[in-house]
Amino acid sequence: MANLSKSKPTSFARPNPSLSFSIACDGTKRQKVECPHPAIHEGKCLLCESAVDDDHSVAFGFLHPSFRLSYVFADKMRELSTAAALGLKKLHLVLDLDHTLLHTIRLFNLTPGEEDRLIPEAEWNAVGGPEGQGDVFLTGTEAGEGSITKLRPFVREFLREAHEMFELTVYTMGGRVYSSRMTKLLDPDGLYFSDRVIAREDCTVRGRKSLDMVLAKESNILIMDDTETVWPDHAANLIAIEPFYFFSHGSKKRCVRPSFGHDGEQDCVLATTLQVLKEIHWRYFDSEPGIKGRDVREVVQQVQSQVRNISGDQASPGDAL
Ligand SMILES: [Mg+2]
Ligand SMILES: [Zn+2]
Repeated sequence: MANLSKSKPTSFARPNPSLSFSIACDGTKRQKVECPHPAIHEGKCLLCESAVDDDHSVAFGFLHPSFRLSYVFADKMRELSTAAALGLKKLHLVLDLDHTLLHTIRLFNLTPGEEDRLIPEAEWNAVGGPEGQGDVFLTGTEAGEGSITKLRPFVREFLREAHEMFELTVYTMGGRVYSSRMTKLLDPDGLYFSDRVIAREDCTVRGRKSLDMVLAKESNILIMDDTETVWPDHAANLIAIEPFYFFSHGSKKRCVRPSFGHDGEQDCVLATTLQVLKEIHWRYFDSEPGIKGRDVREVVQQVQSQVRNISGDQASPGDAL
């Protein structure tokens, strides 16, 4: 947990035992024990019900509003969830949304040609299209403006196969309302992400993403994101991929070519990345016996040449909607 020790004073490494409570041992004796306040809701410890300040815990608002875990208990949860995933032969994969799995723009930024071609298709998907098969949708920003979202080619197959190898988490700089709308498009039956959808409101440092929010050990987490700069502390976990720009708005401004032409789908980044993920997964679990203590960051380094290939020559920092 290099990042945790870097980002917090050492006093945070221990629970705050300032409050205590009694538990019955054998019916007659009661023993005083200190409560480590592992989980806190609306300022009260869920174990001893004492009021607790925020100094020794971190908010996990994506799990439940006003919910916090002590740093120590969060580490314990990381250990447990990593062990549980390993038992299923899985690692953890953190996925960005915008320009990684999909592209969203406001409706007023569509060109007239895009409007003519895409609005009828998106309307059809909303009212009568086959569920789970369309890939362009009328969505909506958190400010209530109309927006349109195109899913990246191959994304459904990607998620289905990645889910077999990884516990999947979404981590976006988009807001919570937006992220939950996008997750619903990608995972309408809730098979992949469960409650693991981390949004802008959860970021502990403005403009940055951190694995502090992910309940798994850093040694077992991979990240897929088109923006490297938001992960300054986790470059070794990161597979940086070429950004997906479907709509012409934004792509010219950033000197990035649209990811596929208007006639056919050419973007194959997710298919290529899936092959790299399969290679990493195989090397981690199957290349040699005994996975105890293995670190996926070392495996990423081993396959670095493949990882570089999908970073793309034209990748440039994009940002969330
Ligand atoms: Mg992005
Ligand atoms: Zn307590």
